[in-house]
Amino acid sequence: MGAKGWFIVKLLMFQGLFVSRPQEDFDFFYLVLQWPGAYCDTTRACCYPTSGKPAADFGIHGLWPNYKGGSWPSNCDPDSQFDRSQILDLVSSLKKNWPTLSCPSNEGFTFWEHEWEKHGTCSESVMDQHEYFENALKLKEKANLLQTLRNSGIVPDDGFYDLEEITKVIEGGIGFTPGIECNKDPELNDQLHQIYICVDTSGTEFIECPVLPRGRCPSTVQFSKF
Ligand code: AMP
Repeated sequence: MGAKGWFIVKLLMFQGLFVSRPQEDFDFFYLVLQWPGAYCDTTRACCYPTSGKPAADFGIHGLWPNYKGGSWPSNCDPDSQFDRSQILDLVSSLKKNWPTLSCPSNEGFTFWEHEWEKHGTCSESVMDQHEYFENALKLKEKANLLQTLRNSGIVPDDGFYDLEEITKVIEGGIGFTPGIECNKDPELNDQLHQIYICVDTSGTEFIECPVLPRGRCPSTVQFSKF
């Protein structure tokens, strides 16, 4: 190789040093899926998105980078503001699968912006904003939670179900043990609220959870109607 060739090789190596993304600085993700019936019962006031009442399905709450020790980073990059123009192709799917329930009624951009800025900016070393939302949507589809529960007779009918049974059924579906979080409705019923599924640092594969969130669930929980 001539001097010119070596110069090009060196230039490419030099560029690689700066262009390649740094190593990730978190250990895994929680994909957090939320039962809208429980969210609305908890906060009492929830508001449907401007596009209408979401389907009775689990919605995405977020994809959260976490540490093995149980803590998590947040708001990692104030310079990386949410830019809706980057996810326009995903908006119809986000409205369906990541619906906002906060008041006053809105399209959802406020919720997505919050999740990107608080959590997404902490995994920028492995995925940009578009990939962050796209991966979360793919993971939700892959988890297929409601169908899996339904196939085992666990349905959102205000009935009470065995927590261990719910855990086992989800484990049978995704291959790994989920974390389950409950909340109390105004009548103090313990309700199935959020399911935590662990995901590797690439944001694409389910893994066994390094640490499970404290779920505050008793042995039987209500699967509320929505
Ligand atoms: P985070 O800050 O990511 O831990 O999420 C908690 C915040 O998200 C709280 O302010 C919640 O009220 C809000 N939140 C949770 N679920 C929803 C939802 N479906 N729509 C809008 N806001 C939500």
